[in-house]
Amino acid sequence: MIALLMSTGARAFAGFILPGSRPRSSGNVSRGCNDKESLPSHSAIDDLIYLTPTSSDQVLLCLNARYCQDEIYTRAGSTLVSVNPFKGLPRLYGTTVMDEYHTGTATSPHVYQVAQQVFSCMTSPLDDIRNQSIIVSGESGAGKTVAAKHLIKYLVTVADKKQPSRESSPSLRGMGTKIEQRILDSNPILEAFGNACTLRNENSSRFGKYIELQFSGCVTLLSPEATLQRCYFSDSDLLGASIQTYLLEKTRVAYQAEGEGTFHVFYQLLSGFPVELRDVLIPKGSPTFNAAPTHNRNKEQDAAKWRETYKALMEIGVSEEQRLGLFQILAAILHLGNVDLCHDPEDEDVCVIDEQTSGILDIYGFESFDSNSLEQLCINYANERLQQHFVRHFLKDLQECQLNRASDPENLQSRISHTLLGNRYLGLSRKGAPAFIVKHYAQSVTYDLEGMIDKNKDNIPVELIDLLQESNHSFLVLLFSQDVVLSHAPGKKQTVVLSKFKASLDSLMTSLSATHPHYIRCIKPNSASKPVHFDPKYVMQQLTACGIAEAVEISKKAFPARMSYAEFLQNFSLLLNSDPTPAAKTRSEVIPNKENEEVYEPLELLYQRQIQLTPRRKSLAPRQKLRRR
Ligand code: ADP
Ligand code: MG
Repeated sequence: MIALLMSTGARAFAGFILPGSRPRSSGNVSRGCNDKESLPSHSAIDDLIYLTPTSSDQVLLCLNARYCQDEIYTRAGSTLVSVNPFKGLPRLYGTTVMDEYHTGTATSPHVYQVAQQVFSCMTSPLDDIRNQSIIVSGESGAGKTVAAKHLIKYLVTVADKKQPSRESSPSLRGMGTKIEQRILDSNPILEAFGNACTLRNENSSRFGKYIELQFSGCVTLLSPEATLQRCYFSDSDLLGASIQTYLLEKTRVAYQAEGEGTFHVFYQLLSGFPVELRDVLIPKGSPTFNAAPTHNRNKEQDAAKWRETYKALMEIGVSEEQRLGLFQILAAILHLGNVDLCHDPEDEDVCVIDEQTSGILDIYGFESFDSNSLEQLCINYANERLQQHFVRHFLKDLQECQLNRASDPENLQSRISHTLLGNRYLGLSRKGAPAFIVKHYAQSVTYDLEGMIDKNKDNIPVELIDLLQESNHSFLVLLFSQDVVLSHAPGKKQTVVLSKFKASLDSLMTSLSATHPHYIRCIKPNSASKPVHFDPKYVMQQLTACGIAEAVEISKKAFPARMSYAEFLQNFSLLLNSDPTPAAKTRSEVIPNKENEEVYEPLELLYQRQIQLTPRRKSLAPRQKLRRR
């Protein structure tokens, strides 16, 4: 199985740097690409471990020089650094280049190289046969989604290319192509419903994605015997894929920061809808829709994207009836966006439709840094979890704070201050409105408490569910199924957003820890998303946040291959001329630390411990026997 994880596009990274590391100021020694004195000698260095010394400034110089030569990929030991070119570089991609990486003729750093390593790890009998994961991280607009598309394309292409073995079921042949098509079809749908234009990226994913590509070696589909056979003879058959999404930024439908947009699907629908349906759902003479103002949009492009989304919906098997239901709900959301509510003058507890006014709703407060709320907290939390584990305790403490029980922000702030007194990663904001500060690994972020409690409840009023349940719109009723009704039943303890998010991250971390991780760090070269423009200060901030210089330094000091003693013995004990030493055995048992995390040590240390390795072969372990057959 290969898991592909893209962190959400916070301004922070999931990286190697240790908790508490602070960004340092840049020596600012690099230059833009138009500067004639820029640094050709560095551009030849395609792995940062060859830099001497490995200072942040040297790393910056090297990436700058390579970027100016359109060499956007650079290795940092076992990590790949990718700098977004913001322009098409067709010579870098396509089936011919894929072939070169697959056959080993191309060796320069590339996303295809990472994908090939993963593929080799999975299929080579001598390599690491654990499930593999690729973690793509970087700030919004750094190129994560594009990198993930290239990775998927590569993996499904090479998997499908491999001749199915005799042992494979004939029905598996060509399955890779079908799965590839399904994955590719799902993409326009996910992007239409989950991506939006933000200040940093006009196609920003507003949800996290965890993509699993399931290969035959790891999926039990057939009888145990047959599975075993395929396990060892055709590990690289692509059998399936799953995409798990988390933390969709639902509030974007109602609120968008200035200069940002709602989810693409609304603009697509307004520009690309067939006239006969549009006349029914969005009658002529409808006012402009506050939830999706189209005046700044490229309508032709939206219409073309709509055709793509529509085709993909058909391809993945959404029925005509369901499609119509879906469009009706989207149109209803647009209409609802034009409804303003106000208090009933006769009863403060009652809400009525305000017929006097007509939002754009453009409430200040959705900016990552000027004003941060629950969405930012969750996004940054996810990045923290990927980076290190130090925030785990903080958020656990925050939940003890029982966010759902506090009645108002001041009350919550005082409870946070009381509960987390002395926590060095947490502070209270000195600005007027109630807020708290979390010292993240990249930098400190201030979170506003106003509105956070309600967002955290994510509550749907029971009366509303009852109403929707009685609708004669079958698709709507499906969305508010019995499960939703039961989970919101009176008296039932509601799970708050943070708890749900934490639980899904916990399970994600459990899945990830069972895999061999490969990292791709995406770097955004400038804040304006312009091609041929390398802003040293801006890049340095990102490099520092993800700890590239430190990672390079560590890579230099040890062999890149790392495995636990247990794994090492499992894979290589047949080469020993005696049983593994008791010391080695004991050591492998001691390795898990108190947090139950595996600790990997460089193979070099194993050699230092003088485990005797000889070329003499002992009898083969059952697994190796099967592989050799
Ligand atoms: P992220 O997912 O990190 O927010 P995206 O992957 O959506 O960022 O990339 C933002 C934009 O940058 C893309 O829409 C594309 O225009 C450009 N881009 C990213 N990667 C590449 C690449 N490898 N080659 C050319 N353009 C790229
Ligand atoms: Mg993205």
